Amino acid sequence: MTFDYAPAPESRTVVDIAPHYGLFIDGEFVDPIDGASFKTINPATEEVLADISEGGAADIDRAVRAARTAYKTTWSRMPGAERAKYLYRIARIIQERSRELAVLETLDNGKPIRESRDVDLPLTAAHFFYHAGWADKLQYAGLGPDPRPYGVAGQIIPWNFPLLMLAWKIAPALATGNTVVLKPAETTPLTALAFADICQQAELPPGVVNIVTGAGQTGRLLVEHPDVDKIAFTGSTEVGKAIQRAIAGTRKALTLELGGKAANIVFDDAPIDEAVEGIVNGIFFNQGHVCCAGSRLLIQESIRDEVLDRLKQRLSTLRLGDPLDKNTDIGAINSAEQFARIDEIVRSGDAEGAERWSAPCAIPERGWWYPPTIFTGVTQAHRIAREEIFGPVLSVLTFRTPDEAIEKANNTPYGLSAGVWTEKGSRILWMASRLRAGTVWANTFNKFDPASPFGGYKESGFGREGGRQGLAAYLKAEVV
Ligand code: NAD
Repeated sequence: MTFDYAPAPESRTVVDIAPHYGLFIDGEFVDPIDGASFKTINPATEEVLADISEGGAADIDRAVRAARTAYKTTWSRMPGAERAKYLYRIARIIQERSRELAVLETLDNGKPIRESRDVDLPLTAAHFFYHAGWADKLQYAGLGPDPRPYGVAGQIIPWNFPLLMLAWKIAPALATGNTVVLKPAETTPLTALAFADICQQAELPPGVVNIVTGAGQTGRLLVEHPDVDKIAFTGSTEVGKAIQRAIAGTRKALTLELGGKAANIVFDDAPIDEAVEGIVNGIFFNQGHVCCAGSRLLIQESIRDEVLDRLKQRLSTLRLGDPLDKNTDIGAINSAEQFARIDEIVRSGDAEGAERWSAPCAIPERGWWYPPTIFTGVTQAHRIAREEIFGPVLSVLTFRTPDEAIEKANNTPYGLSAGVWTEKGSRILWMASRLRAGTVWANTFNKFDPASPFGGYKESGFGREGGRQGLAAYLKAEVV
């Protein structure tokens, strides 16, 4: 049963959202040259939060030139120990302003405040602290005695973890001596703009970080700008491929963090209650808007019914609703477009003959919401087993032997992550060495640490973020 809780809303008064935001170029907020703008909305209420500038070709050019000048005159010449001080300062300010940033993230993205407060913000600060530590030790990164930065990095990020993805991009770039032009996702620009304010507060030299808001076209202009040395992209496989095509034949370096369709594999000797929590965390965390989500559940056949019964029971206790309420487990879907994508692929599951079950949640009248949903009777050929849904929808398959689990888990164009639940350490190692996935979690899921490299195989992209390996994405090994 579910107990009724009194509402426990986090206060909105800790944020101060301006009616209009300019672009952050060369250390100050400026209006775009052609004056174009768009609205960002709260997906839980459909309320317009702010008017956001849309960067055009001239704005991207201005931002890249500012980044180039800052690179040449300041940032690449500054000793690593000095760069580290700025990164530490930014990390400390993020901690100090974490409540404000968490509320802002929840308003703009729709994710529960519990997640933005307890996951996104601590990890964002941790990424800056971690990379601050590297800034004066790059000669020990295994990339030669004097690895050099690329220069100007163009960075494009998605809407699912807006501030955290910004940290994954900006922290290693700055630690290694690169300067940055970053384009946040069009539905979640507010925390990136708050980060611009943090750069001013930290007195970061102008031009080291530039933030140009806009949609896909603004991203395309950044990718195609001739004076960008490196592109780092997180988002869909489709756009990742388009970017790869666009820069083919140029000298630009590229890293791509794309989609996933991870297998979460539960063996019959697994601790079932813990596994159920891990399954829930794997696919329903952040409304399933997670590239490494455990969206394919592989259960050993003998425990299928038991796991499914307990999973349905557990899902029936999740609270869907106001993302600012501290008791909320499932927040809003980030946009009408994403809702339509989820709905379309779920309908394909119905049409292809899988059986749908959704948790009995009351859906609020305004905003975009999707109840936690499970499909059983799924075959490997179904679209819901092959395509990334990027929503709170789990496809359940079964297996009999470890070999069959490996074959099914690897039967995907993606290769970002996987999970294994079993009591046997030897089986974990056996599985991990055969799973074609950048990250394999054992008896846990969706655990992140700035020291641990993250990235994919196959259509999940290439390059790593985090750890020593992540530094290599922003450094040229010295040619001797
Ligand atoms: P997307 O790839 O369309 O957008 C990601 C970023 O790229 C945004 O900032 C967007 O404005 C920008 N962009 C779009 N077109 C561009 C172009 N031609 N050139 C340069 N930049 C461009 O992803 P989305 O619409 O936000 O989400 C769609 C799908 O992407 C999801 O359903 C999911 O499959 C995947 N996704 C993956 C991740 C991940 O972390 N791996 C994150 C978000 C989305």
